[in-house]
Amino acid sequence: MDGTRHSFVKHDQDAEIDPWEITNGVAGINAISRHLCYVGGLEASRQKPEDTRTPEQLQTMLEIISEVLSYAPKVKIVGHNQFAAKGCPSFFAPFWLEKMKVPECNIEWQDPYGYAKFFGNPWKRNLLVKK
Ligand SMILES: [Zn+2]
Repeated sequence: MDGTRHSFVKHDQDAEIDPWEITNGVAGINAISRHLCYVGGLEASRQKPEDTRTPEQLQTMLEIISEVLSYAPKVKIVGHNQFAAKGCPSFFAPFWLEKMKVPECNIEWQDPYGYAKFFGNPWKRNLLVKK
């Protein structure tokens, strides 16, 4: 919650995922992906997914993304819910990445389960109010 980073798996900071760097996140692409997660993600009753990232967690997440892009500039950043029917990470990643000015080439927009609509785009609310 305070933005402290924990690496659960050792990795060398390069664009290749070595066999010893593989972690289980999404079946089928574990061998070519690295997983980033945060503590939280549920609203108070723990029934519904909610983006509960603290300012510190947001900061750390952005730092990690910019580090990864510095040594692996072609990666696609994708939310878990863009691969599976689960709320995680409790927001629609492309909307947030776009707002954070992550280059378009690093954003994957696939949305087979409709989470863009489910979570909406809270980073665009101000624009909608103006209309
Ligand atoms: Zn997940």
